[in-house]
Amino acid sequence: MIQPQKIKTSICIIGAGPAGSTASIFLCKAGIQHMIVDAASFPRDKVCGDGLDLNTIRVLNHIDPAIIEKELSVKKDQFTSSQGFRFILPSGRKVDIMRRQNDAIQPMFFVSKRIDFDNLLLSKIDRSIADVRLATRIETISRTGKTWKLEGEGPDGKIEIETGFLIGADGDHSIVLRHLGERTIDRNNYAGAVRQYWSGVEGMHTDNLLEVYFPKRLPLSYFWIFPLPGGKANVGYGMASNYVARNNINVRKEFEELIKTDPVLIPRFKNAKPDETVKGWGIPMSGKNRKAYGEGWLLLGDAASMVCPTSGEGIGSGMLSGYVAAKFLQRAVQQNDFSEKMFTNYNREIHKRLKTEEKVYRFVNSIPPKVFSIGINTILSTRLFKYWMSNKAMKKWVDTAYNKEIEVRLT
Ligand SMILES: Cc1cc2nc3c(=O)[nH]c(=O)nc-3n(C[C@H](O)[C@H](O)[C@H](O)COP(=O)(O)OP(=O)(O)OC[C@H]3O[C@@H](n4cnc5c(N)ncnc54)[C@H](O)[C@@H]3O)c2cc1C
Repeated sequence: MIQPQKIKTSICIIGAGPAGSTASIFLCKAGIQHMIVDAASFPRDKVCGDGLDLNTIRVLNHIDPAIIEKELSVKKDQFTSSQGFRFILPSGRKVDIMRRQNDAIQPMFFVSKRIDFDNLLLSKIDRSIADVRLATRIETISRTGKTWKLEGEGPDGKIEIETGFLIGADGDHSIVLRHLGERTIDRNNYAGAVRQYWSGVEGMHTDNLLEVYFPKRLPLSYFWIFPLPGGKANVGYGMASNYVARNNINVRKEFEELIKTDPVLIPRFKNAKPDETVKGWGIPMSGKNRKAYGEGWLLLGDAASMVCPTSGEGIGSGMLSGYVAAKFLQRAVQQNDFSEKMFTNYNREIHKRLKTEEKVYRFVNSIPPKVFSIGINTILSTRLFKYWMSNKAMKKWVDTAYNKEIEVRLT
């Protein structure tokens, strides 16, 4: 029998999506050797809306401020930049929220297929410090004393990794979560969503606004059309899992039905063509405050349920958790102490930027859908809301993303 390849490493990250790659990049910056493994060969797809929010921009600016200016803003075949979004209300009314022309030098959003974005992020890992293993799937996890044993399959056959510290950045279907006995779906903090790439969707905004539509038929759901380069669009639909279960909804079917029958969407799609079949994936939202640390382990990104519950955005919050994790680990390495007490404040630090959204989501989830529908028809179309968003809120968010240090309090 061929013996598995045996490797020892002090820290091993499972998953090289936005959360895992970010943790690896910042461990490298701190000179901390480690291994990062991913089941996929990159570039690889991930079912997503592909919207890169200001949290993403903020972490990218910490990796290297030149990434926005010299890569995302320049590679126009991979990245669409945008200065705002368009809400389409259940009434059919359009509300455009954009930054003022003279404020709009620094992009507020990018849209990029994950196959491109995740590959760009992976390329920022310093391979003289990190041992990057792609096409390597971890299949079993066990632990003896303080040593983790990870067994799996790599490009050259079986692989066995021994590590003292394990980082689970392996997404919503995390094997690390399963090993910890925590992979249970909490429907109150989970959403189901589908995505389909399309060509030729009509009526896209000339300034590439990201469109979010709340269909009248199912108000507590959201349909998106995000502009991609080359006349393509990421089109998708998602809703809370407790709503899906209560109303016995098939999200995929509803999505296809909406495109064919919804009066707002029919004219948009009449000459458009799908580039792929409809693809679905889960969204583990922040709200439950899942314990994401312990002696010798940490969870990041979707594995730690880090998706913003009001927007469904998890790339930026996942990257933030990777950044925070690297800071906590840096201290652990310096003090050679990987005990649980070194990570006690990790949960607080990864969730502190999501508290308001968690409260808003709990409120929205507690009111009847009809009330929600009336509420957004009224609030989002007021001039005050538009003024506050375009002139105050967006200005502050952009300033934070481009100019403010990410603060991590270890104690
Ligand atoms: C339909 C949909 C639309 C969304 N739209 C947006 C959006 O527009 N903007 C946004 O910010 N967020 C969006 N999200 C959320 C976003 O996709 C996730 O929050 C984000 O991908 C989380 O990143 P991550 O690094 O934690 O996990 P992932 O991106 O899932 O990466 C996990 C990695 O782990 C690897 N892996 C898994 N298991 C193993 C294993 N056993 N061994 C080795 N490797 C393994 C995988 O191959 C993968 O590369 C959307 C989600 C869905 C489902």
